[in-house]
Amino acid sequence: MKKKNNQKHNNSPEELSYEGAMVTPIFQTSNFSFESWEAISNAFDHRTKSFIYSRGNNPTVEVAQRKLADLARGERALLFGSGMGAISAAVLHCAQKDGHIIAIKNIYGPTNNLLYTYLKDKMNVSITFVSGVELGEFEAAIQANTNLIYLESPSSGIFSLQDIPTVAALAKKNDIKTVIDNTWATPFFQKPLEMGIDLEVHSCSKYIGGHSDVVAGVIIGSDKLIGGIFEKEYEWLGARIAPAEAALITRSIKTLPLRMKAHEANALQVATFLENHPKIVKVNYPGLESFEQYDLGKRQMSGNSGLLSFRLATNDLEKAKTFFNNLKKFRIAVSWGGYESLIYALAISYVKEMTREQFASTGLTYGDMRLSVGLENATELILDLEQALELI
Ligand SMILES: *Cc1c(COP(=O)(O)O)cnc(C)c1O
Repeated sequence: MKKKNNQKHNNSPEELSYEGAMVTPIFQTSNFSFESWEAISNAFDHRTKSFIYSRGNNPTVEVAQRKLADLARGERALLFGSGMGAISAAVLHCAQKDGHIIAIKNIYGPTNNLLYTYLKDKMNVSITFVSGVELGEFEAAIQANTNLIYLESPSSGIFSLQDIPTVAALAKKNDIKTVIDNTWATPFFQKPLEMGIDLEVHSCSKYIGGHSDVVAGVIIGSDKLIGGIFEKEYEWLGARIAPAEAALITRSIKTLPLRMKAHEANALQVATFLENHPKIVKVNYPGLESFEQYDLGKRQMSGNSGLLSFRLATNDLEKAKTFFNNLKKFRIAVSWGGYESLIYALAISYVKEMTREQFASTGLTYGDMRLSVGLENATELILDLEQALELI
């Protein structure tokens, strides 16, 4: 449908047109004015949908939220200033004082701290961690006071998967809310809401942003649940996204399918090369047929992203450093999901917090490396890995 020029407000998923602008303008405004007492009073009657003040709604933010909700097949989305802003709002909405949460081991570190330390200390929330591989673990962990099952599939550390529809069904039967961190797969490759999950959260700082230039997060779900979060955690904790950053997200969503297919193609080539290299003992990547949960991944994801990990055959710190420091195409950084290929070694942060013995007991080695495979030429990335492996 052709849009009229000068259309100032409309909540369609398409770009919000103003003076025929091709791209949604950045409404850099904190406040919105009204023509009368009645008009502003009416806006307050519909406060979760009205433009009144930009800690609540803003037209530029609304466009990005609409696009994300549609992509995930949700009714509504809320954008936050970071992934942790979104995760903490979703978790606080579902958690109850003296309640109980079931979560996956190896979830994103700050989420783990939020659930395990913060909620326990502040709200006496207890938590049971499960590997998430078997449905029976969830069944066994359910208590009378369980109000949330928190998933991350694939998990961003070891890429283990949960069978999403069966866990969602179990939770529904027991009247327990479900939240999934879907950052790794993105709403392009995996649609948990269609599998019965209540709320999907993302760090948009990864693939959804995709250009290493924005930190943001999103929660997607039903009108009812998102409306409830809007009225409490969104407005009261105030971790909203800025309009200019929401505009970057809208820019990024347009190329998400193209980027994800390219990340997948590159990552599969890199993972296959690594898997066949004699100086590598193991590659963790859900897109490889050798991956333990490959069939489950095929059932619930339409593709795989570009973050993977692998283990060098050596556990010698100096050799691991030689490999790591001699890569030319992979830059050294912690985040992921952008154009640039990155490497990070899990040992770097762990050895600061642990003794040598504690580190050994985690099962990790100095040779455990995480790659974010970017959008550069895959052959060049492989040649780079090959030359660095030759040095050790
Ligand atoms: C990065 C990340 C987060 C946190 O997102 P921020 O935008 O950094 O706050 C949460 N979950 C996963 C899986 C992540 O990788």
